[in-house]
Amino acid sequence: MNIHEYQAKEILKSYGVAIQEGIVIDKKEDALAAGAKLREQTGTDWMVVKAQIHAGGRGKGGGVKLAKNDEELQQVVDDILGMTLVTPQTSAAGKLVSKVLLCQDVYYPGANEPDEYYMSVLLDRATGQNCIIYTTEGGMDIEQVAHDTPEKIHKEFIDPALGLQGFQARKIAFNLGLSGVALKGMVKFVHALYSAYVDTDSAMFEINPVLKTSDDKIIAVDSKVTLDDNALYRHKDFAALRDESEEDPTEVEAKKHDLNFIKLDGNVGCMVNGAGLAMATMDIIKLSGGEPANFLDVGGGANATTVEAGFRIILKDPNVKAILINIFGGIVRCDRVANGVVEAYKSIGEINVPIIVRLQGTNAEEAKKIIDESGLKVSSAIVLQEAADKVKAVLA
Ligand code: GDP
Ligand code: MN
Repeated sequence: MNIHEYQAKEILKSYGVAIQEGIVIDKKEDALAAGAKLREQTGTDWMVVKAQIHAGGRGKGGGVKLAKNDEELQQVVDDILGMTLVTPQTSAAGKLVSKVLLCQDVYYPGANEPDEYYMSVLLDRATGQNCIIYTTEGGMDIEQVAHDTPEKIHKEFIDPALGLQGFQARKIAFNLGLSGVALKGMVKFVHALYSAYVDTDSAMFEINPVLKTSDDKIIAVDSKVTLDDNALYRHKDFAALRDESEEDPTEVEAKKHDLNFIKLDGNVGCMVNGAGLAMATMDIIKLSGGEPANFLDVGGGANATTVEAGFRIILKDPNVKAILINIFGGIVRCDRVANGVVEAYKSIGEINVPIIVRLQGTNAEEAKKIIDESGLKVSSAIVLQEAADKVKAVLA
């Protein structure tokens, strides 16, 4: 699950990571009051307004702007709040900005030049260890840095059982070329960042840029956090961080019904029990000349309700030209699923796309009989090849 920058910064702050402070607003008329409050809290003069969407590259798309006074602040908030922001990481259609974060300006002049670094923490599956990736080349496109100057990207592997060691945090600070106050600040920053990552069961923390201010403070200016969905049950309070407007609406609907659904671009909808069978089903759809419109695993206990929810979600996609239901009746009996399909079909009413149902396993013959005798526009198959041929026939 992805969360917004302002939410990620709140988490970081609660672990003692120094951040660029800000106030989030969702109404244009709150701009000046929030600005006044932020000035009072931080002593900042200038401010930066940042669009809150689940995509990076906002600066490039005009979603991050500096305001030097109240007039500019109102102007910039008016510009960004409510805009459709297109960045290198969004689709061409962009994303609607319904919240902005007013931030203190942290690029103020001072004794030293401010400096931008990149740092992320993630799980490295190859070594089974956590990994801190960092470089002095922050602020910009990290993929570009990795491509052009891979030698500038450092990795520090952390044994999850031992945790981050003091020498590792110091090594990171040295490799970033820091000394004195900034070095101490960075060591503290890395420790706090790592504990936030571990404690929240996150899949990834990415801070780009980590800033060394002109008075040598080390702070997180941006933050992108991906929480691990499989660990959300351990963090009930994180449910409030979900922003459904940032997610695919059909995937949100599927989640409500505990269905494992991923939207794809093809023309054959599929409903399957078990992830492995779902993958195999997508393969046979491709082999019969179609393209899967989705991945949908209804789980082991498919019944009329789950089948109906699955149907409704698949039918929302206008690209769907056929639906293939492929269920193996192991724990669940095929006749029960067949009744579920018939009930769901009747309850939805008019379904204009051909449906091919392949039921194999316990009571498969009875299931075929139920489908064939239902009088509905559903064709049944027991063998996979037969199902594939039927898909081919309806697409032809
Ligand atoms: P992203 O474009 O989505 O990655 O958004 P960021 O939060 O990383 O901001 C983009 C860029 O805006 C940063 O790399 C900075 O150059 C600039 N920026 C962010 N905060 C400030 C600030 O307080 N003052 C100034 N002058 N620029 C800032
Ligand atoms: Mn950034």
